[in-house]
Amino acid sequence: MAEVVLKDVMKNYGSLYAVNNVSFTVEHGEFVALVGPSGCGKTTTLNLVAGLIPMSGGDISIGNRIVNDLDPKDRDIAMVFQNYALYPNKSVFKNLAFPLQMRKLPKAEIEAKVMQAAKILDITHLLERRPRELSGGQQQRVALGRALVRDPAVFLMDEPLSNLDAKLRVAMRSEIKRFHHNLNATVIYVTHDQLEAVTMADKMAVMHGGVLQQYDSPANVFANPVNTFVASFVGSPAMSLIPLDVVGKGTDVALKSPEEGWELPLSAQNARKATASSQGTVVLGARHSTLKLHKSPVAGSVPGKVYTVEPTGDVTFAQVFVSGAVVNVSLEPTAPIAPDEEVFVEFDQQRLHLFDGQTTNALK
Ligand code: ATP
Repeated sequence: MAEVVLKDVMKNYGSLYAVNNVSFTVEHGEFVALVGPSGCGKTTTLNLVAGLIPMSGGDISIGNRIVNDLDPKDRDIAMVFQNYALYPNKSVFKNLAFPLQMRKLPKAEIEAKVMQAAKILDITHLLERRPRELSGGQQQRVALGRALVRDPAVFLMDEPLSNLDAKLRVAMRSEIKRFHHNLNATVIYVTHDQLEAVTMADKMAVMHGGVLQQYDSPANVFANPVNTFVASFVGSPAMSLIPLDVVGKGTDVALKSPEEGWELPLSAQNARKATASSQGTVVLGARHSTLKLHKSPVAGSVPGKVYTVEPTGDVTFAQVFVSGAVVNVSLEPTAPIAPDEEVFVEFDQQRLHLFDGQTTNALK
């Protein structure tokens, strides 16, 4: 297994920068998720690592070897795609064996490797079947198996679960995680699903508009998003974001609703952050689980109006309009709350986030 290093990697199509100056290091044995909305450049980044498209600039190394000019077959990688790309007329055994036959390995070695991969992925009983005789999840396992037999330095996976139904996706998520754990493999995994990234990866690379926004463990990205884009992308429901004005000075600072005129006094630490904003405006961020709803005002609360109430079983989510923004609050399933109710949303000063209203970057 090997380390993968991207340094100032660029890919442009004319004036469109699909990947713009992206740098990060995937350590030996690490599982890294490239995540972001459609068109953010994650597949292009993966394809650059694979060598499927030429770079416009920068360097990529795999296992201490610069691979910029190497063909995909010489990079010691194996790819797993969304559409599995299995050979329809070959049995599962032959699908797994084919890449090894191409490498002209001895027959006995091929058979041993195929049997070992089949055992790891629990597809030994399927080896004589053809792909069309398999379920989506089984086909996905064969696709993983075909990557596995090649024993590559790095596994590259592009949305490998997106063709599966929701339940199977969750099951295969655990299997791929287990696969990574058992093999201690270096994996780069593209997904648009932040939950998949958060649950599977050691680190996530959050991309937006071709630019790497944040590269860190899911826990750190969740706890300390670097800007409002990352804050709103990671977590479900998303972090609520409310644009507000900063008023007052010193330690006597509050956030004021430009629409409704109320003021939320800040703790000394938050006051210091808010007054560092570039134009006297901030975006206040809060995760649903840090907020409380009240029927009458309490210290540290601001007025809002309930828009919808969504029970999910274990927990109920209320969407509340606060100063023109939608705020998500999680409640006990039995909470007596109804649409159009006037409520008060209490913020936890220790756990709120402040972003610069102009740059959208987190205030420190
Ligand atoms: P998705 O989740 O929809 O697959 P993505 O994050 O993987 O999106 P990319 O496929 O990497 O996004 O595309 C990044 C940007 O580059 C997009 O704006 C896309 O339209 C553009 N792009 C990709 N390939 C080409 C190409 N061959 N020619 C021109 N533009 C391209």
